Amino acid sequence: MRKTIPKKGKVILAGAGPGDPELLTLKALRYLQKADVIITDRLVSDVILYEYANKDALILHVGKQCRKGASTPQSTINELIVDYALQGRLVVRLKGGDVSIFANVLDELQALAANNIEYEIVPGVTAALGAAAYAGIPLTARDYSTAVRFLTYYKLDIIDDKTWKDLAMTDDTLVFYMSSDTTDKLIEQLTENKIGHDKHVAVIEQATTALQNVYSCNVYEYSEKFRKNNYISPTLIIIGKVASLHKQFKWLENSGSSEPYFKSIEKNKGTLSRA
Ligand code: SAH
Repeated sequence: MRKTIPKKGKVILAGAGPGDPELLTLKALRYLQKADVIITDRLVSDVILYEYANKDALILHVGKQCRKGASTPQSTINELIVDYALQGRLVVRLKGGDVSIFANVLDELQALAANNIEYEIVPGVTAALGAAAYAGIPLTARDYSTAVRFLTYYKLDIIDDKTWKDLAMTDDTLVFYMSSDTTDKLIEQLTENKIGHDKHVAVIEQATTALQNVYSCNVYEYSEKFRKNNYISPTLIIIGKVASLHKQFKWLENSGSSEPYFKSIEKNKGTLSRA
């Protein structure tokens, strides 16, 4: 008798966009409607998971939330993706924003390759682009900036003195991810390194969601106006001449709300919950 070899499934590594569910791509939507298993990050709208996706799909939450000290280890996430795919399922690994920006996708790709599992990568609108659009900030506006840098300052020792000098002197637009807890220090570093007086900062909280708030001013006014502000996660920081355009081109009023749009993950509890 011939042995039947079970068919391997497939994994779709997809970006869900930054918040507004309508920023999901049609391709990601098509796969979510066919998915058997959805393994999702925290920064994905519930509307996408519970209204747009296949109602019969198994939904696993594997979010990371450093501030709360809660997270599912990357090795567990890799195992889940691989195990379900080896059972022949269509697995959508859904990440906030885009899959390739500050999203650990390399670990997952290596696990898939090691197990010979077929995959596709579906891009998403990364937070920098969503936040810039919904705050009315053209990131490379003519005569303002000719380049954008995506950075992170999630802990204090990851940027050295030489790099601070360079960041203070460049005319590139700087976008900082995962840096809301270090914003005061970040602005201090740039002003100490004599960033130009024509540079502005825009801190965009819960970008593209109905609860968005933008805090914006000249970099040299920041510590007086917003120092010690506690921003709601997720928050993104845009620095450069372009940030001054927010004032003129903002098309969305601040919500004024301090309610979180994304659910937080409770420490040591249910990070692998189904709903
Ligand atoms: N892969 C994601 C980034 C994950 S890192 C992407 O491409 O967007 C998580 C960081 O992204 C947050 O700390 C925050 O800086 C930023 N971020 C994600 N969604 C955001 C949102 N809706 N508003 C503001 N910042 C956001």
